[in-house]
Amino acid sequence: MYRYRCGLCETTSLPVRTWSEVLTERDQHRQRMHAGHIPDGEQLLRQHQPGRPTDTRATVWIILIAGTLLILLILRH
Ligand SMILES: [Zn+2]
Repeated sequence: MYRYRCGLCETTSLPVRTWSEVLTERDQHRQRMHAGHIPDGEQLLRQHQPGRPTDTRATVWIILIAGTLLILLILRH
């Protein structure tokens, strides 16, 4: 999820799903509010989605722990 923030207007868009959509949001805001000019302090924000880890480190740790437990289980037999 992505959001567009305009520093001049001090507003943030509603979240959109794709990078392409947030670029459209940015372009529309520039046209509507700033006559196509680039406002100071604008940002394209990436929003964390709850329940969906954004980095792979947690996944790697889960795989390592599960693998270790599996090896320990096999060695005990
Ligand atoms: Zn603005």
